[in-house]
Amino acid sequence: MKKAILFIFCLLIIILLILSYIQMGEVGAEVDGGDTEHAGQMEGSGQVKITFLDIGQGDATFIEFPDGQQMLVDCAIDARILEALGRVMPFFDNTIDYMLVTHPDKDHYGGCIDVLDRFEVENIIYTGVKKDQSFYEAFDNAMDGEGAEYHHIAGEDVWNIASTTIHFLYPDHDVSENHILPGFEKDTGYNNASIAFTLEYNGNTALFTGDAEEEEEEYLLSTYDGPLDVDILKGGHHGSSGASIPEFLEAVSPEHVIFSAGRENSYGHPSRRVLKRVERVGGAIWRTDTQGDVIVTLGEDIYVEAVGVRP
Ligand SMILES: [Zn+2]
Repeated sequence: MKKAILFIFCLLIIILLILSYIQMGEVGAEVDGGDTEHAGQMEGSGQVKITFLDIGQGDATFIEFPDGQQMLVDCAIDARILEALGRVMPFFDNTIDYMLVTHPDKDHYGGCIDVLDRFEVENIIYTGVKKDQSFYEAFDNAMDGEGAEYHHIAGEDVWNIASTTIHFLYPDHDVSENHILPGFEKDTGYNNASIAFTLEYNGNTALFTGDAEEEEEEYLLSTYDGPLDVDILKGGHHGSSGASIPEFLEAVSPEHVIFSAGRENSYGHPSRRVLKRVERVGGAIWRTDTQGDVIVTLGEDIYVEAVGVRP
């Protein structure tokens, strides 16, 4: 009987090893044509892989750095983030190096609690803007329990992660007590307190602005010049017509614009008007609502593909 149990146990281990090998192989094929054996870790892959996850209405972007480190930018509205991460992470990977929350709206942070429960998150990046208490408690628990480090974004900053450069553009001051944009008298809303940053690798750059709308875009235009001119733009606020103003798109002059939105969402995101504006500046349009996960690879060149195309 004991022998039988031992045999079943060994068999299970072998099956698990085979499964993990297959999974790594699949990731490798996506990353660089299958010529990297251990792309699950992406050691020295020479690429940055950015997956705009199809998680319905909301945002979740998974970034893999050339040395295998991982960053999750926003976490979808709920636990659906875990299923989405299962598409881009090997099942035996229980850690995420960085979790960045752009702003405190549920379609961006709702799933963060599930992510913190399921994974060991090593660094949390946030502005400290207070709206909902629940995820602060989750942050605190993660920091107490797992020793996650909290990074308070309260000024322009430049980070280097694995030969990439992350340039935090906004907030360029502490917004934890007052999230109104400088120069504005009225409340400009939580969307306009979104972290805006660029990620540059090998001369190729992506810009992320969370749910920033017209006001934050104007503020970025009046504050920065060069850093806004990038190749890849994560379309602001799911393609709402209150974001992606023509002046901003002209300054950014993106080659590719990716919109994260839910299939047939009630907001009409991304708006036709915004899609027209993007076309006018010559940007290729990608959208998670109709194309599933959108993967951008920054290497020698930029490569964009949509997987899980929907009918
Ligand atoms: Zn949103």
